[in-house]
Amino acid sequence: MNKNHDSRAGQRPATRADRDASAVIATDKPAPPMPAVLTKQCSNCGAPIQIPDFTSPDLLEGRLWSDLRFDSAHFSEPPLLGKCPSCGALGPLAELPPMPESSSIQPDDRYNYQALDSDDYAALLEEAGDIAPPFHSYLRIRFWQLSNDRRRGGDSVPLSEAERANMLALLELLGSRPADRLMRAQIQRQLEDFEGAQATLDTPFDEQLAPLVKRLQRLAAEGDPGLMELFAGDPRQAAWLLSLDGV
Ligand SMILES: [Zn+2]
Repeated sequence: MNKNHDSRAGQRPATRADRDASAVIATDKPAPPMPAVLTKQCSNCGAPIQIPDFTSPDLLEGRLWSDLRFDSAHFSEPPLLGKCPSCGALGPLAELPPMPESSSIQPDDRYNYQALDSDDYAALLEEAGDIAPPFHSYLRIRFWQLSNDRRRGGDSVPLSEAERANMLALLELLGSRPADRLMRAQIQRQLEDFEGAQATLDTPFDEQLAPLVKRLQRLAAEGDPGLMELFAGDPRQAAWLLSLDGV
């Protein structure tokens, strides 16, 4: 293309089409800001591993589901466990040492930690054998929530045998905290034990959770095994979420 033609085109008065195009651009939602990252060092290969900085307020926007999965625009799971993007070693990300400052590594997407998927959690549960109860329930919760991702669009995907076995084992591990009881009620609905879910939801909850518990009770009464979106936005704006410890 000829240069003069380009510069003339740049100077011509804006047409209606141009104004419409810029209006579209102006009303387009801006891309979410990139979250701040912490750069850790892989204890296996020494390569950098970036994890989101969870003290950064931008990270809190997201959706909370009735299996208590918090789905953020910026990360697919809180990085308790993750994989090194260079060597694939799996480990507890928060416990990795920071990258030495002398390395002068600049943030780069290719250093982002790799999130585990439901197959990774299933494999960990198979390999783990005797594991400490809090970690055991963490693995089972993550396996359950990640398997449920296939159902968040409203699709009724039947439970696999592995999912069913995991949910039954998880019921044995959940305690009496409000978050545990909400997860229990969700599992009971998914297993079509609607009476069990009603009984779980009939136990007293904090007053602030009452509207939410009411919605879940309705689903149990209707025999609905589906997942429900409980909240979308910044959870700091929802006081009732604060009474859900463990989310
Ligand atoms: Zn590595």
